[in-house]
Amino acid sequence: MRFDTRLVHVGQEPAAGTGDVVPPLHLASTYERDAQDPPRWFYARGENPTRESLERVLASLEDVRFASVFSSGQAAGATALAVLARRLVIVADDVYGGTHSLMATLRDRDVAVRYVDLADPEVVDRVFADGAAEGALVWVETPTNPLLKVVDLAHVSRRAHEAGAVVLVDNTLAGPVLQRPLRFGADVTLYSTTKSIAGHLDVLGGALVHDREDLHEAFTAHRTAVGSVPGPFDCFLVHRGLKTLSLRTERQVATTGRLVAELSAAPAVAEVRYPGLPTHPGHAVAARQMTGFGSLVSFRYRGEVTALLRRLRLFANAVSLGGVRSLAGCPAATTHRPVPPPVRARLGITDDLVRVSVGIEDPEDLLDDLRRALGAS
Ligand SMILES: *Cc1c(COP(=O)(O)O)cnc(C)c1O
Repeated sequence: MRFDTRLVHVGQEPAAGTGDVVPPLHLASTYERDAQDPPRWFYARGENPTRESLERVLASLEDVRFASVFSSGQAAGATALAVLARRLVIVADDVYGGTHSLMATLRDRDVAVRYVDLADPEVVDRVFADGAAEGALVWVETPTNPLLKVVDLAHVSRRAHEAGAVVLVDNTLAGPVLQRPLRFGADVTLYSTTKSIAGHLDVLGGALVHDREDLHEAFTAHRTAVGSVPGPFDCFLVHRGLKTLSLRTERQVATTGRLVAELSAAPAVAEVRYPGLPTHPGHAVAARQMTGFGSLVSFRYRGEVTALLRRLRLFANAVSLGGVRSLAGCPAATTHRPVPPPVRARLGITDDLVRVSVGIEDPEDLLDDLRRALGAS
């Protein structure tokens, strides 16, 4: 079965008895053991059929055996840190704002956190050269958020493995249609399924995807212990959204290309950051490891950002990304508030930076809205 067929079929086998083409929702919190031979289902914090259907399709998308889903992307990240963060975590310096908050929880665990520019191959070579990374967890995001820097997944994975480190890639931005990190040597893919996978801005979820039995046991044991499982209805919503992921992604990427061209030509825009632009420093690497350049674009606006966001009618001024509805926002004021101001300034997450997540609306309407809002400055 090819990728797009798996999106629709895996974990959606017709139910025994009735033939429902969408499996029924399993809502029970506990199971009658005598009804099973041998006992397979015990208690829903540990096992639930609706959840496992979603896990099966997510694992199949990267051609691996294991996926564990969580109540949110952050919950998935917390389990990954609990299991994999030993002495040192090396984090890409431009990451999701919430990842900074997640790393801050390591303060009282005697784990050092080092933010480095993994988009710079020379920095990567240096970081893994001296043996200090032995046993470290490397936390990668690419393209990065919100500056859309590109990390060479094959290069980082190779260097990290030579140094005895484990590589986790937060693949939320690109999503599994455009980029499959495990193919480039990463050990674990993390998703906030809240974003493009569910896609409809109406549910929270997270996932860890990989091919290691030892990690599967550790991740699920931790999740069961702390209870960060998603409810069955949330799993159903994520799974339903996933079925149209390829179609949505295709439209979103095509529309983003047009918006990028519009932004690049607008006098009110000082800089456009998008890996699809040939002038983007990570363009060649992105072209190698992605099948499309994504639906997120950032730009620097010469005018008053708050006024611009207010003038946009179709782009809601809201955080999140990858959904059916277009969103625009100012990361410095929202998602990246947890990042200390000097770090924000050094990275370039400044008050004039606007991040746009492109939805599935008619591209002409989005272009009209953007043109009108930019022209009025
Ligand atoms: C949203 C997001 C998260 C966190 O996911 P939640 O589902 O909101 O907990 C992690 N990483 C990235 C890149 C995100 O965009």
